[in-house]
Amino acid sequence: MDKTRACVSWCRHVLTVVVFVSVPAFVVAQTSSQASPSASTPPRSRGQGEPTKADLLRGAYGPYRANNDLLFYHLDIRIDPEKKLISGKNTIRFKMLKDATRIQLDLNDALKVDKILLGSAPLHYERDSGAVFVDFPETLRTDHLYTIDFYYSGSPVQTGRFGGFTFGTDASGHPWIYTACEGIGASIWWPNKDQWRDEVENMQISVSIPDNLVDVSNGRFMGKTALGDGYTRWDWFVHYPINNYDVSVNIGNYQHFSDRLGDLDMDFYALPEDMEKARKQFAQAKSMIQAYEHYFGEYPFQKDGYKLIEVPYSGMEHQSAVTYGNHFANGYLERDWTGVGISPRFDFIIIHESGHEWFGNSITAADSSDMWIHEGWTTYLESLYVEYMYGKDDAIKYLNGYKSKVKNERPIITARGVDGEPPPDQYFKGVLFINTLRSIVDDDTRWWKLLHDFYQHFKYQNIMTEDVVEYFNLQAGMNLTPIFDQYLRHTAIPILELKFDGSDGTVSYRWKADESMFKMPVRVGRKDNWQILHATADWQTMRSALKKDDFEVATDLYYVNVTKE
Ligand SMILES: [Zn+2]
Repeated sequence: MDKTRACVSWCRHVLTVVVFVSVPAFVVAQTSSQASPSASTPPRSRGQGEPTKADLLRGAYGPYRANNDLLFYHLDIRIDPEKKLISGKNTIRFKMLKDATRIQLDLNDALKVDKILLGSAPLHYERDSGAVFVDFPETLRTDHLYTIDFYYSGSPVQTGRFGGFTFGTDASGHPWIYTACEGIGASIWWPNKDQWRDEVENMQISVSIPDNLVDVSNGRFMGKTALGDGYTRWDWFVHYPINNYDVSVNIGNYQHFSDRLGDLDMDFYALPEDMEKARKQFAQAKSMIQAYEHYFGEYPFQKDGYKLIEVPYSGMEHQSAVTYGNHFANGYLERDWTGVGISPRFDFIIIHESGHEWFGNSITAADSSDMWIHEGWTTYLESLYVEYMYGKDDAIKYLNGYKSKVKNERPIITARGVDGEPPPDQYFKGVLFINTLRSIVDDDTRWWKLLHDFYQHFKYQNIMTEDVVEYFNLQAGMNLTPIFDQYLRHTAIPILELKFDGSDGTVSYRWKADESMFKMPVRVGRKDNWQILHATADWQTMRSALKKDDFEVATDLYYVNVTKE
């Protein structure tokens, strides 16, 4: 289902060639248990240096993707832990949006295409740098629905930030097999239309594994069937749109316990030796879901329930099947994550990855260039949890702890239509920017309504930054475009320039920013008695009894730099 809103500027940006800059690997979810990339298949550039052909084929919403609209996947695979093999098929149902004879799907070159069938007829296909172009003997007609079966097999490559697809073992020697493929892409282990803009409306996931193991995938557990050959098939059904990288298998010697929050089923999976720790630590999920429901409304995947699953890497937001590897301890990998004494009160991975159910999974960016819609917002959700539990002062303190992590080396929004990942500033600068927006709105009752309505308006949709800006401009009744652009599309943050004239008791002020139309109110003076300056890019002068050293700027409420002379 193409849930993207029609957006003229989006289309314009797709056609814009932007100079691509290198992006360092971000380490939020990296752990020592992570495998190194396979030596045989060099990882693609992922935004480092010039985009490769693979970056462009996977990143662009090209004509053979845009001519169809995904409706349904049934991923039906068998996983052999001994041989480290996957085999099976993805049944793909789609609606044509144009008459055409070719569509683009994707599958990593390490995996073999066994056959692609339309009914019983084999289809011709061409592979190119991770893309699989499927050709049809007859023209597919606009508005008609088609279903193809894409058979594949092989050993997936273990690579990328989170391992892609990993055949591992737990400490007691049982297989522990898991997927985490955000960034590297879901086509690392299964054939699909591997992009962010178009999602299926729902999905069936069938995973056949040795009888003694458990598979936890996304959606509602529909049952398991013994196949009589030592394997059991686990069936899951996802009742909602789902982005490709969220689709997951977690296979291991899992034990299970469950709970409820109102009508919401909550299911928890951990290894036998960790069950006691899991029962204690996973109890936090309830208050986190309650906090997010307070601000945004009902948990987005009620019919699928909420699951939290132990894995050996730090964690991932897999829709309705959040994975967890944060050592059953508060903070992030046992650190005070924002360094101000608040992070040790709760489990960073449960709070962050569960927040993605609202931002990332329900509301999804239509292009990875705009991934701040996932990460900036979810990082802001962390501070909302703090505010819900401990009050506004602690929330502001918590999020300002992120300042030390901001690099301001390149814009948060990267080149569109090129597979790559925005810099870590999308998290840290993202949350500081959203907190700045709150201060600009300067009315918490309005702010809470704006946030709630923003989520409700765009839930289950794939959107771009332009949609966010348009919504906030309209609902806040302000032209916030230059502010959004300054924080998201430029490297530098705005500088409030202050010039003091002691002789006549005045201070002159202006914003120094890349956006020529930049203007933003800001609180200055004394903490106990802030006064709002309506600063613009032009110099203005005001009277002030405060001396240069006593004149403060509310930099906890606005993420800005200040110069004084
Ligand atoms: Zn995240």
